[in-house]
Amino acid sequence: MKDTKFGIITRGVGGLYGVRTVDPENGGISEEVLCRARGIFRQNHITPTVGDEVKIEPVDGSANEDWFVPDGEDCGRDAKKSRGGNGGGKKQDIRVDFVIDEILPRRNLLIRPPTANLDYLFAVIPAASPAPDLLTADKLTVIAENYGIETVIIVNKSDLDPESSARLTDIYRTAGYTVFPVSAERGDGMDALAAYIAEITAPETGKTHISGAFAGVSGGGKSTLMTALFPDLQLKTGGVSRKTERGRHTTRHVEIYPLETASGGRFWLADTPGFSMLDFTRFNFFPYDELAASFREFEECLGQCRYTKCTHRKEEGCAVIEKMNDGRIAPSRHESYVRIYDEQRSVPEWKRRMT
Ligand code: GDP
Ligand code: ZN
Repeated sequence: MKDTKFGIITRGVGGLYGVRTVDPENGGISEEVLCRARGIFRQNHITPTVGDEVKIEPVDGSANEDWFVPDGEDCGRDAKKSRGGNGGGKKQDIRVDFVIDEILPRRNLLIRPPTANLDYLFAVIPAASPAPDLLTADKLTVIAENYGIETVIIVNKSDLDPESSARLTDIYRTAGYTVFPVSAERGDGMDALAAYIAEITAPETGKTHISGAFAGVSGGGKSTLMTALFPDLQLKTGGVSRKTERGRHTTRHVEIYPLETASGGRFWLADTPGFSMLDFTRFNFFPYDELAASFREFEECLGQCRYTKCTHRKEEGCAVIEKMNDGRIAPSRHESYVRIYDEQRSVPEWKRRMT
C-alpha cells in the first residue's frame, strides 16, 4: 500500500512546492515538506496552485521522472542549457522527498494572485486616511461573489472618523454582508472579529481547511489587522522584515500560513501584496449583463423590472432603483454598479474573451 498523505500547498516557486500535511485522525499538521509535481499535470493543463488540497507520496528514488514545471518559471531547464545539457539543471538538482500525485477538486481558483480554495475574503475599508474608496471595495465584493468566496467587511480606523465608520457599516450591512467596524490600532471591535474567525474555524464545523485573505487598498491597515489577530504570523514571516518583503515580492508569490484560532481551530491565511488588487483581470471577461447578480442585495429584484432587458441604471419601473428609493439599497452601491457596468460595456468583445 502506498504511503499517501493529504496536505495543502502553502507555497510554490519554479516547480518546487511546500506542502503541510494534515493528520486525518487529530487534524495536526506537519512541518513543510518539499515536493515536486508529476509531469502528468502538464498534459492535463493543471497547474498546482497555493491553497490546493493535494495527495502526496514519497518519491520513488529509482524513477527518473518528468516533473511538472510551471510556464514562465522554467528555471531548471534554462540552467540545464547553460550548463551544457548534462541533464541536471540547478532546480532539478534539489532533492525532494515527496511528489504531488493528485490535486483534489477545487472550490475556486483565483488567477491573480494565483490561489486556490479561498473560503473568505476580508475586505478592509478604512473609515479615513486614506479616504474610503467604495468603487474598489465594491469591485472586491463583486469578484468574491463571482468566485463563490464569502466576503466579510472590516471597516478599519474607526478611531479616526467614527461617523464615516458608522456610514460604511450601514452601507454594507444593508447590502447583506457581515461587517466589523474596528480600530486595529486601538483594539476597538477586535474581540468580535476574533470571535467570528474562531467560530468559522471551530473544529465542530468538521472542516479541515478553512482559508481566507485580507484585501483592500494599501494603507488601509491589512498588516496591522493580521498581526493583531494572529500573533503567530509575526514569527512565521520574520517580524519586521515582513513589510519590506511584502514590498519586494511580486504578486505571483502567495504564501499560506496555518494559524491557530481561539476555538482550537485553524485558519489558513493566504498572504501576498497581490490581494490589494485581487483578480481585477476578472473584469476583462466579466459578462456585464450578469453583473447585477453579483450585487447580492439586487438579486431579489432581478426579473421584477418593467422591462425584461432592464440594465438597472436609470430605467423607469426598475425594481433595483425602486428598492434603492425605499432606502434598502445604498446609493453608493448602485453608483458602483453603474460605473462597473459602463466600464465593462466599453471593453470590446474580443478583449473581453481574453484572459
Ligand atoms: P496595509 O498597507 O493595508 O497593510 O496597512 P498597514 O497595516 O501597514 O497600516 C497603514 C498605516 O495605518 C500604519 O501606519 C498603521 O499603523 C495605521 N493603522 C492601521 N490600523 C489603524 C487604526 O485602526 N487606526 C489608526 N489610527 N491607524 C491605523
Ligand atoms: Zn432594473
